[in-house]
Amino acid sequence: MKKFAKKIAVVLLVLLVASQLVLCVYLCNKNPSQGTGSVNFTIVVDAGHGGIDGGVQVDGVKESDLNLAYSKSLGNLLETCGFNVVYTRHGKDGLYGLPTQGFKRRDMQKRQQIILQSNANLVVSIHMNKFSQSIRSGPQVFYQSGSDSQFAQSVQQSLNSLTGNAHSALGGDFFVCRVSPCPAIIVECGFLSNPTDWQNLQTDVYRQQICQSIFNGMMLYLYST
Ligand SMILES: [Zn+2]
Repeated sequence: MKKFAKKIAVVLLVLLVASQLVLCVYLCNKNPSQGTGSVNFTIVVDAGHGGIDGGVQVDGVKESDLNLAYSKSLGNLLETCGFNVVYTRHGKDGLYGLPTQGFKRRDMQKRQQIILQSNANLVVSIHMNKFSQSIRSGPQVFYQSGSDSQFAQSVQQSLNSLTGNAHSALGGDFFVCRVSPCPAIIVECGFLSNPTDWQNLQTDVYRQQICQSIFNGMMLYLYST
C-alpha cells in the first residue's frame, strides 16, 4: 500500500511539473501587454542578507543561506523562460565589502545600485520569516505602502493556492521596495519559527514548489495587467 501511495505521489508530481511546463511555454510565447518581449524584460532577484548578516536564525538554520538557494531556483525558472535575471548576490558573502561599521547601510546601498543599474522591470526580494509564536506559518508577500499592490497580490494568491492559506499581501515600508523604480515585492517564503515550515523550507521539493508558485504569480501578474 505504501508503495502504491508513493507511485501515486510520483505520478502527481510528474503531472504537476508537466502542467507548469505547459503554462511556462504558453506564457513565454505570449508577449506581456506592456509590449516588452520576455528577452528584454529584466527581473532582479535579491537574496536577502549575506555574510555576517545571517538574517533570521533558528536551530542552526540561517536565513541568508536559504534566501540564496531560493533565489537561485527562482532565477533559474525565470531564465528558462527567457527573462534577463540580475542577482544581487551569487554567493554567501554580503555586499558590504569589509565587515566594518556601517556594513548594513553599505550592503543596502549596493542592492539599490544593482537595482537601478539593471533597469529592472520587476524586483523580487527573497527572505525567511520569524515570529515570537510558532503558530504562524506559510509564505507572506509584502509591498511598499502607497504603491500598487497588484504584483504582491498575484504572487500571494499563487502561494496561497500552494499552501491553502488565506494570507493577504501586506503593505509596509521596505528599503528594497522603496528604492525600486518598478514594481517590487518582498517574499518571506515561510516562518523558521514554525517547526513544519522550518523542516519544509530546507527540502529541495518545497523550495521548488515555492519558487514555482512565485514564478506562476509573477507570470499571471505580467500577463493579466
Ligand atoms: Zn530577512
